[in-house]
Amino acid sequence: MTAKSMMPYVQGNSAIRAMFEEGARLAAKYGKENVYDFSLGNPSVPAPEEVGQAIMDILDEEESLFIHGYNQSNSGYEDVRTIVAEHLNKLHGTSFTAENIVMTVGAASGLNVAIKTLVDPGEEILAFAPYFVEYGNYAANHGAVLKAVPADTDTFQPNLEVMEEMIGPKTRAVIINSPNNPTGVVYSKQTIQAMAKILKEKQQEFGTDIYIISDEPYRELAYDGVEVPYVTRYYDNTVVGYSWSKSLSLPGERIGYLVFPSEMADFENAIQAANIANRVLGYVNAPTLIQRVAARCIECTTDIDVYDKNRKALYNGLVDAGYECIYPEGAFYLFVKSPIDDDVEFVAKAKEHNILIVPGKSFACPGYVRIAYCVSYDTIVRSIPAFKELMDEIRG
Ligand code: PLP
Repeated sequence: MTAKSMMPYVQGNSAIRAMFEEGARLAAKYGKENVYDFSLGNPSVPAPEEVGQAIMDILDEEESLFIHGYNQSNSGYEDVRTIVAEHLNKLHGTSFTAENIVMTVGAASGLNVAIKTLVDPGEEILAFAPYFVEYGNYAANHGAVLKAVPADTDTFQPNLEVMEEMIGPKTRAVIINSPNNPTGVVYSKQTIQAMAKILKEKQQEFGTDIYIISDEPYRELAYDGVEVPYVTRYYDNTVVGYSWSKSLSLPGERIGYLVFPSEMADFENAIQAANIANRVLGYVNAPTLIQRVAARCIECTTDIDVYDKNRKALYNGLVDAGYECIYPEGAFYLFVKSPIDDDVEFVAKAKEHNILIVPGKSFACPGYVRIAYCVSYDTIVRSIPAFKELMDEIRG
């Protein structure tokens, strides 16, 4: 008998599978090019050439037992962690060493390791709606309780006043994600400083540690030179979770890292606990070949001009068609106000026009839909008339 605790996931999964199957059915009926699939955050830009070259060079130049063996430390190769630390120091004026870095199996495992390391069962984690749907599952994996701070739908910036009211003695962490999935907003330095001020006061009030877990898979996907502040510079009790899934278009390779700054509370125990969490959660160590690839490609990023072009074309096309949407400064998503109250019903109507999108309900923010524009430019251009027809139908 399958565990009862897994059955809600199984049921939820059938809904996702139904969406995939529907996409495949529509593609078979109308032709793949006439189906506008904006449902997934899978990068549409291939990995930079340097990645393939690095793989070949590593296989050629490095010792097989070293490249493919277990890592000596569950935190990953020491030289790779040094390269990561020095890269961060160069970019952000920090002073990390290999001791501050734990290589992870993408951001997803990084978040699980961070939660297992810092949050005890029964303690609370706050996340700002709308947020990446898996946060709730990751918290539940470790017996923690995820609480949603309701969205400020005017700006989609974190609602700090409500956050302040929601913090109590059991609050152990606040997850933030900037550039944000699903809204594309970027949190400014002032916002991070204001958040840090409140958290410091609350730590004092309750005599506890409250961590910021900064989930940053979209850090490099920031447009028009917008600054994405490095959170450890403003708040000591920060753990940064990074991933190369989007920045090098390597989501299937499962590679990322966590940063634990030395200034954080109980650093020595925390970094050891994270190393052990990597092992006991079954990740053991981040994939070894790709750790070495990431280190060799530390200066590379994806071609963000491709996403930028999509961003402008889709945003302008949708606004012209009468949709309301905040202009995204990063990531590759638009979070659009549903023209009817029920976002799930709107998603179903969109499907009748061969448009596949995700309801805001899935991000704890009903009344909106997420459109992932990591698709071909051609798909964007050809989808605009379909979005217009959809709006015309709704307006009657
Ligand atoms: N966090 C956010 C906000 C994401 O959007 C994603 C993936 O889409 C992840 C974490 C997981 O990333 P990874 O593939 O590195 O595990």
